[in-house]
Amino acid sequence: MKSVIKYFSFSVVVFFTAIIIYNCSGQTEQKVVGFDLNNLDTTVSPADDFYKYAVGNWAKNNPVPDNQSRWSVFERMFEKNSELVKKLLDNAAASKDAGKGSIIQKVGDYYASGLDSAKIEEQGITPLKEELDLIENIKSYDDVVKYTAHMHMNAGAPIFGFGSTQDIKNSSWVILGLYQGGLGLPDRDYYLNEDDRSKEVLSKYLKHIENMFVLMGYNKNDAAAFAESVVSIETDLAENSRSKVDLRDPEKNYNKMQIDGLQKIAPNFNWRLFFESVGLTETKDMDVGQPEFFTNLSNKFTSVSINDWKTYFRWNLIRIMSTHLNESFVQERFDFNDRFMNGIKVMQPRWKRVMNSLDNNIGEAVGQLYVEEYFPPAAKQRAKNIVDNLLVSMGERIDAIDWMGDDTKIKAKEKLAGFNVKIGYPDQWIDYTELKIDRDSYAKNMINSLKFKAALDLAKIDKPVDRNEWAMTPQTINAYYHPVLNEIVFPAAILQSPVYNPEVDDAINYGAMGAVIGHEITHGFDDQGRLFGVDGNLTDWWTKEDSENFLLRAQKIIEQYNNYEPIDSFYVNGELTQGENIADLGGLTVAFHAFMKTDQYKKGEKIDGFTPQQRFFLSYAEVWKSNIKDENLKLRLKIDPHSPGYYRCIGPLVNMPEFWDAFNVMPGDPMRNPEEKLVKIW
Ligand SMILES: [Zn+2]
Repeated sequence: MKSVIKYFSFSVVVFFTAIIIYNCSGQTEQKVVGFDLNNLDTTVSPADDFYKYAVGNWAKNNPVPDNQSRWSVFERMFEKNSELVKKLLDNAAASKDAGKGSIIQKVGDYYASGLDSAKIEEQGITPLKEELDLIENIKSYDDVVKYTAHMHMNAGAPIFGFGSTQDIKNSSWVILGLYQGGLGLPDRDYYLNEDDRSKEVLSKYLKHIENMFVLMGYNKNDAAAFAESVVSIETDLAENSRSKVDLRDPEKNYNKMQIDGLQKIAPNFNWRLFFESVGLTETKDMDVGQPEFFTNLSNKFTSVSINDWKTYFRWNLIRIMSTHLNESFVQERFDFNDRFMNGIKVMQPRWKRVMNSLDNNIGEAVGQLYVEEYFPPAAKQRAKNIVDNLLVSMGERIDAIDWMGDDTKIKAKEKLAGFNVKIGYPDQWIDYTELKIDRDSYAKNMINSLKFKAALDLAKIDKPVDRNEWAMTPQTINAYYHPVLNEIVFPAAILQSPVYNPEVDDAINYGAMGAVIGHEITHGFDDQGRLFGVDGNLTDWWTKEDSENFLLRAQKIIEQYNNYEPIDSFYVNGELTQGENIADLGGLTVAFHAFMKTDQYKKGEKIDGFTPQQRFFLSYAEVWKSNIKDENLKLRLKIDPHSPGYYRCIGPLVNMPEFWDAFNVMPGDPMRNPEEKLVKIW
């Protein structure tokens, strides 16, 4: 249940932070004055290529480090933040007086177990013995169903996605969700497409699976045959999976039914047995996101031999657990996943890998320690002020739109007024009392955590939604809009320099943090967000004419980005990225209009030779400066709903008269879309 694929993904803006300004005393650690003038490449005209002008020298002088797949503000923020988290983890692990069962004990022991490389080496694959024995004992198709259930509740998400979900047509209520899934590669296209990169990925994947089975102790011939079986099962799942673009439509990916309905469309899989086995004896409504996926699964279920299902389960187990086993597994996983798929050359140090495991598996436990140490209450208030300004500005933008009628505007304003804003950290933390963590086994700690999370998730089903929950931890350098909760959420770690810094002028903060906040607000009104009402229900609050007007405008932004070719013959997918691109354009526009109300804008005084408007846009470019490995770029173009950093910078600007004014961009200049291509939405 860990990786339930829902019909939409959270609309997340990926930000990275470089310099931490909040420490325990609330004093600034390092004074930052706006941006670094040395980043500019003044040999390039801002009207020709604003990215190159604003950050061209940075891009030339900052290649991607060997232990990274991408290097941008956000990776740099992550690196800095990791050092802060490390201090917390080191202290927790060294703590002599942490009471048994306390958060400090659990965080400290988890961390210590991950650092104990001698013990991890000595244990080898034995921490998985219990699971492997269960797989070995599978004798019938009913056993396959039971083990699928067991695995979902313990270590992974085999065959399909499964977990709690908000009912998008009754948003105050949580129901069971079932979704397409079960793939080891990050997209169905890798199994199906005939292009060179897809074929290369699939053949390396086969070899990777074979290598893993050899490490588990099987001979090479058997291992090669096992790899073929796994890929055959996954290819079949992939053939009946929807594309990432098709998954963006919430209406088409919502199919509410009860267990009898599910049993009818997928009769050969014993669903009653499955639900009983996970402990859901009285399941009521469920959302079966992609019914044809389950029909196909049912059709093929018994044509896959029981032995092949066992092989598939072993592979799922090892795929999920390999990073927590001895060095040869870790290295094999790194070679395929990090080196080949993402272009990373050198593995991160052990402590950082263990930190990531903690973040993923008991993130809010670490988050409690993080907030106590690094996020003073004053920081929350400062961030709230800027969010409030942006919300007001968005309301004014809605009033000013010339393509939308009054009836739809009233509804849009109602939705905006209903936004819930979360800043910093949850008011109520996850209760980790039932989670057992000790220093005996790193892998067991991970399994215990996955088990704990799965049980926690299952307990939400058939109950009212808990609005206190967060989908990100406070130490996450990111933010999100959640359409079914109609809320924008800004974790503590994103509220740091260079994204937000109370020491610098407003132009800098509005161009960076303002644009981030505006981006998240605009997600409430992008191609997906606009389909949800003020209470989070999937509901059409648009007049027919306004809806058509919106779609015309969205089509233009799709076409604009479809033309971007970041690397030879690999294009941006304008449809997949439209929500993010709409949010980038709307967010930057809203942020600029909020900035126009500041004293700095009104006074218009230059700093470092730049007007306030110019500083605003230079700050925006600073946020998107990035270098990326080819492998990671190719992967992201396929799976990431965000455009690459370069296009996140220039894509909105070519549509913004406010930007043209600031830098004297004339008709015909590359940084100015001609009238017929101009996109204006929010
Ligand atoms: Zn976003």
